[in-house]
Amino acid sequence: MTLRRLPLIDDRVGPSPEIEDDEPPVLGGDPPAPPWSHQPTVEWQVCGLCNYDCSYCIQSKRYRVGYPSREEVDAALRFLSGLPGSWEVKMTGGEPFASRLFLDHIVPSLAADGHIVSTLTNLSAPERQLRRFAELTYGRLGIVSASLHLEFAEVGPFLERLAVLRENAAASARFVVNMVLVPDRLAAVAEAKRAIEAAGFRFFGQMMKVKGGVHPYTPEQLQEVEAIVGDLEAAARTRSANMAPAYTGRRCWTGARYLVLLQSGDAWACRTSRRHDQGWLGNVNHAGVSLREGPIRCPYTICPCTVPANRGMIEGLEARGSRR
Ligand code: SF4
Ligand code: SF4
Repeated sequence: MTLRRLPLIDDRVGPSPEIEDDEPPVLGGDPPAPPWSHQPTVEWQVCGLCNYDCSYCIQSKRYRVGYPSREEVDAALRFLSGLPGSWEVKMTGGEPFASRLFLDHIVPSLAADGHIVSTLTNLSAPERQLRRFAELTYGRLGIVSASLHLEFAEVGPFLERLAVLRENAAASARFVVNMVLVPDRLAAVAEAKRAIEAAGFRFFGQMMKVKGGVHPYTPEQLQEVEAIVGDLEAAARTRSANMAPAYTGRRCWTGARYLVLLQSGDAWACRTSRRHDQGWLGNVNHAGVSLREGPIRCPYTICPCTVPANRGMIEGLEARGSRR
């Protein structure tokens, strides 16, 4: 049987040889923000702890670094408050709801600042917390990216909790259910997808990541994946699933209008650059954070996070608003 390859994925994971070990230069002559419709966005890790322990979690236990102090949270909030223009703050973890400061302090502060508030969550929070979240973010909620992990959650109760959130949020809020396309559990993922769509939610499949790239799916597993996400080339092209694409060589405004803020206060241009110890923008607790003055040309051979692409940070990729 001919081995099938995932579309757009390059096996070499790391900076391209020409600029290895160097900070990619900022391109002069380009505007400081993408010259097309885009949504400036910070992905903020509000805590490092998670109440789940998924076998495929790429955030290994030693990186689950607990909770930030109130002072560290306040330093991050001050930084976010000072960002120029209208930004979306997408909160991640760990699990954001696992932090006591999340509903008591972080979400109210962000909403009061006028930011668009989004979150990535495993949706294990009880209904009363979800109602409170919807109330606090009413009219300012961008997207809830709810990850369904079948190792810890059942489809029915999960969808009931998401429906509670949808019922209590403004009509402008969006909801998507993420699922990792776990190679040996694809039948269960397919079944869950049917339930998710029957409940009126959007399903978003993600190829399983392993250290250094994407899990090496067998041809048979890729056929199953295709049955779930549709034609693999089309899914990569339309970004209807996360196929871990590469945008090597394209102009990218991460670091200028998108950044990743860790609970330590460190800010990085994007997740891949952080993995290569490049693109550090500063720390909100110490000397502060400096945004890049323009784009770089992407030197990396995998772009596993969908947010920069969907917020319009990457040349040739249309923004999709606060989509996931
Ligand atoms: S819910 Fe997310 S962060 Fe928590 S263990 Fe699972 S994959 Fe990791
Ligand atoms: S966000 Fe993606 S395209 Fe931009 S620099 Fe990072 S890996 Fe490259």
